Amino acid sequence: MESKAPFYTLIAIVAAPLAAAIALGLAAVGGPTPMPGPTPPPILAPSPDPTPSPFPSPTPAPLPAPHVGIQAGHWLTRYLPDELSALRTMVGVKVGDWEEARVNMGVAERVADILVREGIDVDVLPATVPEGYKADLFLSLHTDAWKDPEMSGFKVARSDWSRDPARDDSLVQRLIGDYQAATGLPEHRDTITDNMTQYYAFDYKKYRHAVSPSTPAAIIEMGFLSNDGDLRLLTQQPERAALGIARGVLDFLGNHSGDR
Ligand SMILES: [Zn+2]
Repeated sequence: MESKAPFYTLIAIVAAPLAAAIALGLAAVGGPTPMPGPTPPPILAPSPDPTPSPFPSPTPAPLPAPHVGIQAGHWLTRYLPDELSALRTMVGVKVGDWEEARVNMGVAERVADILVREGIDVDVLPATVPEGYKADLFLSLHTDAWKDPEMSGFKVARSDWSRDPARDDSLVQRLIGDYQAATGLPEHRDTITDNMTQYYAFDYKKYRHAVSPSTPAAIIEMGFLSNDGDLRLLTQQPERAALGIARGVLDFLGNHSGDR
């Protein structure tokens, strides 16, 4: 019998602090010192319940930047592909030392500068349009010349083959309004020719190197190089023409962002 005493004593020695700890723990419930809660699950453990992840859900990806093609009319015309070889000699108008492609490029670069600063991806395109070119907008820049040096002004048109005339008319109207406001030039709606409305880069049925029918598209004749005032504006203040065009582009994109 005696041999059991040490055994129970030993149990008591071990059990007493344990009981005290349990008693303390029970007493602590509701006391001023909260017991530590259950250990949180490891961060990477899959949650067993449908509770949403404690990590912030990623914000929705922003829309990709609008993508715009600005064509400097007649630039590198000689490199047109074989399907357009008949147009390789169409180098545009020339007045004095001013060649159309150079004037067109001077404005195109400035339009691109403004649009890039607004967060838009811009392609400055030569005469050759990439096959089935897709963008949120395509605009071809040109300048005119005429035998009457008094003839002044600009004109804007869309394609005869537009798949969405209302959309493209809206682009034309915005360009007209903003270009006129920025340059003060008159609009020549009555002198729009087939060369504009049936521009080769719009002719997606005939050419592979053309703008996709899903792409809003327009062409602008920015002024007459044969008119002193127009020539001065386009060569000495090309930033004014560029600002009008860029505003028209931005107005259109702002009102058709849901189309993308
Ligand atoms: Zn031209």
